[in-house]
Amino acid sequence: MPLPAPPPLSFALPPRSAPVRLAAGLLALAWAAPALIAPALIATALIATALVAPAFAAPACYAPDALRARPGEEIVRRATAPVSLPDVRLPPAQPVPASLSGSIRRVDLPAGVKLVALTFDLCEASGEVSGYDGALVDYLRAEHVPATFFGGGKWMVSHPDRAAQILADPIFEMGNHTWSHANLAVKTGDAMSRQVDDADTAFGLTRADATQAGCMLEKVPARPALFRFPYGSCSAESMNYVNETGHLAIQWDVDSADPAFLGATLMAQNMLRAIRPGSIVLMHANGRGKHTAEALRQLIPALRAKGYGFVTVSDLIAAGKPVIASTCYSERPGDTRVYDEAARSGRHILSRP
Ligand SMILES: [Zn+2]
Repeated sequence: MPLPAPPPLSFALPPRSAPVRLAAGLLALAWAAPALIAPALIATALIATALVAPAFAAPACYAPDALRARPGEEIVRRATAPVSLPDVRLPPAQPVPASLSGSIRRVDLPAGVKLVALTFDLCEASGEVSGYDGALVDYLRAEHVPATFFGGGKWMVSHPDRAAQILADPIFEMGNHTWSHANLAVKTGDAMSRQVDDADTAFGLTRADATQAGCMLEKVPARPALFRFPYGSCSAESMNYVNETGHLAIQWDVDSADPAFLGATLMAQNMLRAIRPGSIVLMHANGRGKHTAEALRQLIPALRAKGYGFVTVSDLIAAGKPVIASTCYSERPGDTRVYDEAARSGRHILSRP
């Protein structure tokens, strides 16, 4: 079954404040004539967007009650039935340019520009149905904080409404986090490529659900443009496949360690100390992160007080020069090998990252 065609581009946009209109205009100009516009100008436009609350805080295609967190949704459960996908043909993908190939860890920004990208993984491994941290998502919406989510394909299928709500939200973006949280440093060939393709397919089905709900999706691509490697671990083969199928590989330079029960205050302090302009911060929104919402309630006001604005990963990359590594690691090269060894021996480590 082919994916439905994207909706027409003739939607009336909701009213926006003057700074946001200026930012949108500059960004449109930058996309139309990239050689003419310096990254500093793009960054200026993004700061205007990041520091001024947008005219909407949630996807208008969903009622507030449908968006709000529900108690117990964050709980991770054992799977009782296998999850399968219909046979869907993916639209063709364009490989990412050579200059953006590899593992994007952070972004160098023009001097004085203070932007940060918060990212949230929605991991769901085989044998489990992971959760949805609604308190966290509700807080981001209430505070108008843009963010990037990395959806496991299986998570998107087992949480269809939540996945569509995130995908349709104009302040959020969604990337691919493999089908079932496989370690792609270890999987090869078809087993590796299916993990990437099936999550792209789940993204397409989620996109169709959001379209069905009447959402405006003109900024949402037909296939996800971003990808995050489970466990932060990759091989040359899987990195090449991810880039060839049109995904930028997004790592991080700040790990919240939110599955580790550090408590909200220590976690917020650690992140505040580590974050610098252009940082990409790793967190979880699938119930595996502990105290993540509470930590955000401390972190976000503290970063704002230091002059930071929040942007999606895509906007952060547009504002500067990505710092790209040829291999994947969390803090230093080689530190994800423990996950690779666990995967080779058949042990599952679900809690990281
Ligand atoms: Zn993950």
